[in-house]
Formats: sequence, C-alpha cells, structure tokens
Amino acid sequence: MTIVDTPERRQLRELTRAFVTKEVLPYLDGWERAGEVPRSLHETAAKVGLLGVGFPEAVGGSGGDLLDSIVVTEEIIRSGGSSGLVAALFTHGIALPHMVAAGNEDLVDRYVRPTLAGTMIGALAITEPDGGSDVAGIRTCAVRDGDHYVVNGSKTYITSGIRADFVTTAACTDFPGSGSLILLVIEKGTPGFTVGRRLEKLGWHCSDTAELSFSDVRVPVANRIGPEDTGFLTIMQQFSAERLSLATQAYATAQRCVDLAVRWCRDRSTFGRPLAGRQLIRHRLAEMHTRAEAARAYVHEVAERVAAGQPVVTEVAMAKNVAVAACADVVDRALQLHGGFGYLRDAEVERHYRDARILGIGGGTTEIMNDIIAKGMGL
Ligand SMILES: Cc1cc2nc3c(=O)[nH]c(=O)nc-3n(C[C@H](O)[C@H](O)[C@H](O)COP(=O)(O)OP(=O)(O)OC[C@H]3O[C@@H](n4cnc5c(N)ncnc54)[C@H](O)[C@@H]3O)c2cc1C
Repeated sequence: MTIVDTPERRQLRELTRAFVTKEVLPYLDGWERAGEVPRSLHETAAKVGLLGVGFPEAVGGSGGDLLDSIVVTEEIIRSGGSSGLVAALFTHGIALPHMVAAGNEDLVDRYVRPTLAGTMIGALAITEPDGGSDVAGIRTCAVRDGDHYVVNGSKTYITSGIRADFVTTAACTDFPGSGSLILLVIEKGTPGFTVGRRLEKLGWHCSDTAELSFSDVRVPVANRIGPEDTGFLTIMQQFSAERLSLATQAYATAQRCVDLAVRWCRDRSTFGRPLAGRQLIRHRLAEMHTRAEAARAYVHEVAERVAAGQPVVTEVAMAKNVAVAACADVVDRALQLHGGFGYLRDAEVERHYRDARILGIGGGTTEIMNDIIAKGMGL
C-alpha cells in the first residue's frame, strides 16, 4: 500500500469519482464552449467536501494535506475531467494559501471561509504584460496613503479572473521592478479595478482567463496579507504546492491518455486485426504507461517530502519538468494512435492534447524550473 492508497484516500478517490461522474461529465463539453464553469459547481463541490481538501478545518476547509489534494486532482482527471477543470474549480488552491499561512483571522473570515464554502471565487494575480517569469520585476505598484494603498498597474493571463470576486494581487511598494512586494486582496467592484476581455486560448477552454487593470484603486491596509515587504518570500513559498499540482495534472493527464489509447487500440482494427494485436503498438503503449508511472512515482515522492516540511525547491522543479515532459510525449503518442479521430473535437484525447501545453508554462516555465535546478546544483 502506497501513501496515497490508504483506506481514507481510497474513500476520497471514490467521492471525487462520484462527483465527476454526476456533476462534471454530463456538462463539461458545454462549459468548454461557454468558456467557464458555473458558480454553482463551486457550491456543489464544497457541499460534498471536495473544495476544502488540503485546507484546515479551522479556516473552513475539510482538512487533509498536500497529498490529499493530489489524490483529488489525480482522480478528477482519471475519471474523465481535465486539467482545465482543475484550474477553474480549484483556483482557490493558488488564491488562498498566502492568507491561511499569514493567519490573519479577518482575511480568513472575509475571503477564505466563503471561498471554501463555494460562495466566493478568488484568483491570484502575479503575471504582468511585461513579463511573468521575473517576479521581482513586478511593476504594479501600491503606494501607502493613510489607511489605504493606492494601486496602479495591470495583470494578465489571470485564471478565473473573469469570475473572481477578489484577486490576491502582487504589487511593489517601492519603485516598479524594485522587488519589494506585498500581496493585497482586491475586491471586484472597487473603483478603478477593471476586468478586461476574456482571453481566448489553445486549451483550458472551461477555465476563464482575464486581463486586469488597476487605476488609482484604493485598497484598505487591512487587505494586506502578512507584514510589508514579505510578499516576494510568501509568493515563492506557495509556488511549491502550485508546481506540484501542475505536475500532478501532467502525469494524471498522461495516465488518462494511456487508458484512452489502450481502450482505442483494443477496439480499433486495421488490416483485419485490432491495433493492440501488434507488438509495435503494445510496446508503444507500454512505453507510454511507463513514462506516466515513473512521473507519478517521482512527483509523489517529492510531494511527501514537501508535506513533511523538507526544503525541496529543486526537487519540486525537477518533478514539474519530469511530469510535464512525460505528459507532452504521452498525449502526442495517444493522439497519433487515435488516427484522424484523435484530431476531432469529439475525441477526449484532443482536449488533453491542447490542455497539456500550458503545464510547462504556468506556475513557472520549464526554463525557469531548469534555472532553479541549475542553482540547486551549485551552477
Ligand atoms: C492559461 C494561463 C493561465 C495562467 N494563470 C495565471 C494566474 O492565475 N496567475 C498568474 O499570475 N499568472 C498566470 N499565468 C501566467 C504564467 O504563470 C506565465 O505565462 C508564466 O509564468 C510565463 O511568464 P510570461 O508568459 O510572461 O513569459 P516570459 O517571462 O516573458 O518568458 C517568455 C519565454 O522566455 C523564457 N525565459 C524567461 N526568462 C528566461 C531566462 N532567464 N532564461 C531562459 N529562458 C527564459 C520563458 O521560459 C518563456 O519560454 C497563466 C498563463 C496562462 C497561459
């Protein structure tokens, strides 16, 4: 029995699978066309206890740790959901942890509890039009004016930014690019805060993505997360969980595509024989399965170390890159095995092929992960 295969986690898998089967699969294609998931899905997910997994009961969560969140993500994708759905429904996984870690009861009551209850939606805004990789270079600025900060700047590619009721926003307190960052919770409807157009994307169609702009937006100092100038550190500390979530989405997508390809190769006959009757095809499926499994095992190992509080920033970067590379290879081969059908919108594998491309970009690109790994090697 592995650490993610305990009786409690098996139960969590069953709960997740039942949720996906009943509440997601009949509607997912429609949400992909609509460009977003409905708000009611958040409430339903909260009611069955899935939205709060990985958050302490003391802040309105359902308890559990990073490994429980990983189990939920794995099972959503394994049951026919998608990484796009995970991004849309679990955006709070990146919008809330800074508030929970800072332990500010007021912010927890106003934003964390309602979000985990599914009645509010949050987003995280770090990336700017001028660049996302260089977090220290953030140009959106927050200038203190009495009990408020006055925020000016813009953000882009923000997941759930169209629907979000509040945005956990990174801003500099000194001059643009100074690296002295704070995190502010900015509410939709605050004068000067504009949500721009819905960005059209290659994949993750059911996950809305927005541009945001701030023009003299007055944000109460009470909405600052943690002390002044701790923003950069706080952002970096929470990146590990986000990167492991993306790594999980990557190997789970790969495994789902292996399952789809196996089913297809058993059913599809060419030249009078099922595809799976040919050794070449069986070996291809074996290689795909091996890549997905190896990525899963490594991500689990690193996640266990993160959950145990070990400083494994380098290993997290390696886990993300390993899983993303495995996913890219496997989704491509799975689509190819489906032939022409694999290229059609009707094929589930087609959605995974498009969705997978973001996994090596979001949460820190493959190149930025390599930079971290090289640093960890002393280079
Ligand atoms: C669908 C989607 C959802 C997203 N959701 C969010 C969100 O919710 N919140 C948020 O804040 N951001 C979000 N992002 C933004 C994402 O995190 C950034 O796109 C990512 O960090 C890269 O930043 P960039 O696009 O500005 O690329 P750049 O930083 O401009 O990089 C461009 C290219 O140059 C490479 N590069 C950059 N610096 C170096 C270097 N030093 N050495 C070698 N290569 C380098 C990069 O790897 C990349 O290939 C999302 C993006 C997408 C597409």
